[in-house]
Amino acid sequence: MVTLSVVTPMFNERAAVDHFVARLRPVLDGLGVTYEVVAVDDGSSDGTVPRLLELRDGWDQLRVVKLRRNVGHQSALGAGLRAARGAYVVSIDADLQDPPEAIGEMLAKARDEDLDVVYGVRSDRSTDTPFKRKTAGVYYWLMRRLVGPWVSGQAGDFRLMSRPVVDTLNDLPEQQPVYRLVVPSLGFPSGEVTYVRAERVAGETKYPLGKMIKLSLDSVTSFSAAPLKIATWLGLVTFVICLGLVVSGLAAWAFGVVVPGWTSLYLAMLLLGAVQLICLGMLGEYVGRIYASTQSRPRYLVAFDTGEATGEVDVPL
Ligand code: UDP
Ligand code: MG
Repeated sequence: MVTLSVVTPMFNERAAVDHFVARLRPVLDGLGVTYEVVAVDDGSSDGTVPRLLELRDGWDQLRVVKLRRNVGHQSALGAGLRAARGAYVVSIDADLQDPPEAIGEMLAKARDEDLDVVYGVRSDRSTDTPFKRKTAGVYYWLMRRLVGPWVSGQAGDFRLMSRPVVDTLNDLPEQQPVYRLVVPSLGFPSGEVTYVRAERVAGETKYPLGKMIKLSLDSVTSFSAAPLKIATWLGLVTFVICLGLVVSGLAAWAFGVVVPGWTSLYLAMLLLGAVQLICLGMLGEYVGRIYASTQSRPRYLVAFDTGEATGEVDVPL
């Protein structure tokens, strides 16, 4: 068993992968422990995989796991966690926004203080766009309220986990685990290492708005039924308002006041329609996830895995 596995999901990271390897390798070589790097290709179409296989020729510890198609950062991370064999596993982005140099500090901290999780906590995000910072701020604020105060406001997916934590994660039956929320909620002894978030070394962000929204919906629905309760409350409030409208309508009828009434009808219809759609939408989010979990389809399929071996490996492309 190797001491350390470094898991990196990559989606169209051809531009970043050389920089990444050039900076990661000396750090890992300098740690003085046995290690492996599990690069999970999340269905890239820009030549990331052939480049990884080339790099692997000169670096036996590099292992390439190629997924059949793009399944998203969290699922790709899941594939990497399953493939990893290390006593400790570090997950890190491929774009060098998380400094590989912090891995040594994480490992030392975990060993010295007997910790199972060491989070990389961003002390400074000034290199992120204002939009990213703002949305991240709202996301973490909401998560701390929905999931619990043990979720750090500044920890992403750069973290070290011990083998028991990784085994626990791998055994979860969840379809869409959001690891940055699940890991703290397990309650293993944990510590933090702070770092300054750097700029992406090359290429573009692989997290467009659509993927950010999906992550947020997965985060909320996997941890909280609060939106369903909001739906109930919205329904109750609208019911009370409608009762008032019914009374006033009856009174107007009784006193023979004939009002044109178009505006009130129009507004009431719009409002009721909107509330109903919101509630249906919330139900749909949960029902959709229940549906997906009863189908229990695999979250990803591995196209190939160069495996832990060092010598000749048959790699179908
Ligand atoms: N990523 C992935 N699959 C995706 C999107 C992203 O494996 O569908 C990887 C990406 O290659 C990177 C990490 O997830 O290593 C974080 O993505 P990115 O740096 O683009 O996100 P950002 O830092 O902009 O939030
Ligand atoms: Mg990034």
